[in-house]
Amino acid sequence: MRALVIESPAVFSVQVRPDPTPDAGEVIVAVRASGICGTDLHLLDGELPYDSFPVVPGHEFFGEIVAVGAGVDSARIGGLVAVDPNLPCHRCSECRRGRTNLCLNYAALGVTLDGGCAELVKVPAHLAYDLPAGISEAAALLIEPLACAIHGFDVLPRNPNDRYLVYGAGTMGLLMSQLAADLTGEQVDIVEPNPVRRQLAEQFGHRAAAHADDLDPDSRWDTVIDCTGVVSAIEDGLTRVRRGGTFQCFGVADQGAVIKLRPFEIYRDEITIVGSMAVLNSFDRATTMAESWGDRLAPLVTHQLPLDGYADAVEVFRAGSGLKISIRPNERTHR
Ligand SMILES: [Zn+2]
Ligand SMILES: [Zn+2]
Repeated sequence: MRALVIESPAVFSVQVRPDPTPDAGEVIVAVRASGICGTDLHLLDGELPYDSFPVVPGHEFFGEIVAVGAGVDSARIGGLVAVDPNLPCHRCSECRRGRTNLCLNYAALGVTLDGGCAELVKVPAHLAYDLPAGISEAAALLIEPLACAIHGFDVLPRNPNDRYLVYGAGTMGLLMSQLAADLTGEQVDIVEPNPVRRQLAEQFGHRAAAHADDLDPDSRWDTVIDCTGVVSAIEDGLTRVRRGGTFQCFGVADQGAVIKLRPFEIYRDEITIVGSMAVLNSFDRATTMAESWGDRLAPLVTHQLPLDGYADAVEVFRAGSGLKISIRPNERTHR
């Protein structure tokens, strides 16, 4: 099979590798599409604290089961599945408290183990979630990011009348905004410097501006969600939280990034600051939600490229000129 292999930071190529064979409890998935996100860029730049290389990236993928190992129902062959890439150990203290997303022995397909940027990938059968045959490619591709977004909301207060301010109208910012809009029935405010992304945010019914002052200079929001990981956005966002409100660090900042904040204001205004890490009991809900959202998700997938287009995909992602970029490993030609 052909696979995109990252040998070491910034060094990657398409390689021919032996087809994987399923062990007991595993299935082989022929990948239809695998999304690229900020985590892949951190991986590629050698910025993640794991000893991964060489590794096949791709933790947001779906495809068709083509083989099953011992103990897996052979009726699953031919079925379409989305894969939860997270592989908690179920033995550490965090896993034993039910916080498998905070596992102390982090492992994930496409990060520490071979993932979806390959024609075939081996996955534990219980992490392959069955999809309806008619699901759109965008919906199936966005299940993993949506599962992250749902977990993000699981750790936020959810009050019907709350006003939300979201920093960043990339894929995650738009998914978080959509969840907030569905929850409150209100327009969500978004800060996004990129005019193309602002326009898309408006198409989704949100209100977008390059700076929070352009939305409402005197206003504060009940919940402010940073989906950028950018220091200046986080620092600005923290000043926009209403008294008693919540700030969420959802976007992935660089590991060494440091922000300035005034502890006095956190104290006086009773601000809650909360993180959100990956997926926790939210993959199943994301599968259902992606299916029901259907066409709403289509505008979020802006590029589709074959494995050979990985370098182009990385370039598009870094330029911020697309949203979700889909790698289609079993397709040879550019679309
Ligand atoms: Zn991701
Ligand atoms: Zn664990």
